[in-house]
Amino acid sequence: MSAASEIIERARRGGRDVLTEMESKQLLASLGIRTTQMMPAATRDEAVAAAGDVGYPCVLKVHSPDITHKSDAGGVKVGLADARQVAEAFDAIMASCREKYPEAEIEGVTVQDMAPPGLEVIVGTATDPQFGPVVMFGLGGVWVEVLKDVSFKLAPLTAADARAALGEIRAARLLDGFRGSEPVDKAALEDVLLRVSEFVAATPEVREMDLNPVFAYPDGALAVDARVILGG
Ligand code: ADP
Ligand code: MG
Repeated sequence: MSAASEIIERARRGGRDVLTEMESKQLLASLGIRTTQMMPAATRDEAVAAAGDVGYPCVLKVHSPDITHKSDAGGVKVGLADARQVAEAFDAIMASCREKYPEAEIEGVTVQDMAPPGLEVIVGTATDPQFGPVVMFGLGGVWVEVLKDVSFKLAPLTAADARAALGEIRAARLLDGFRGSEPVDKAALEDVLLRVSEFVAATPEVREMDLNPVFAYPDGALAVDARVILGG
């Protein structure tokens, strides 16, 4: 069985349809998509120890199968510079998430390396009742939330489809560098689209994937957050 099917099976056995960020990123990594390093930590002391391994600056995020919108719950702290900030972030995340989601099962946090800033894009998939799996690409942040600037392609994508997906968004010029910023590595983004597309086309039990954000760099791309949703 592939690593991805094992992750899916484990969630199914636990009666879950939504993979945690950690499971989702492990799945992406098994597909050859770059993600942040991440270590689970159940206690404040474990978080500090994990941060020592991951290195500074680091990021703490709530680790819970029941909390999928982590920032809304006060569950994300970025740019932590030392052990004291990690300890404080652990306490703050746990307190906020317990207050906002009293019923949630919370396993602690994940400790991640802090990705250098890049152009934030999103890659997603959905399942259309008629057409099956579709892959979505867009710029992240306000571009997707306010302007809904995204393009859709039917999976499985060809290399030409992946290229077209990048070119069809209204803000496509931003990918080529804008006002002095360097162009991003479009080949790396096309590669992410193709890997995701191939996976969902071959894996009907995956109903939805959300890589939000992916950081696009002049050299490479990195999935900073991920969520995989299974279907019935
Ligand atoms: P949410 O569940 O709220 O979508 P995210 O994991 O996407 O949580 O984190 C919120 C934001 O924090 C991201 O959009 C990104 O800008 C930033 N962020 C999250 N993880 C990292 C990381 N490892 N390195 C750098 N920035 C990060
Ligand atoms: Mg996110």
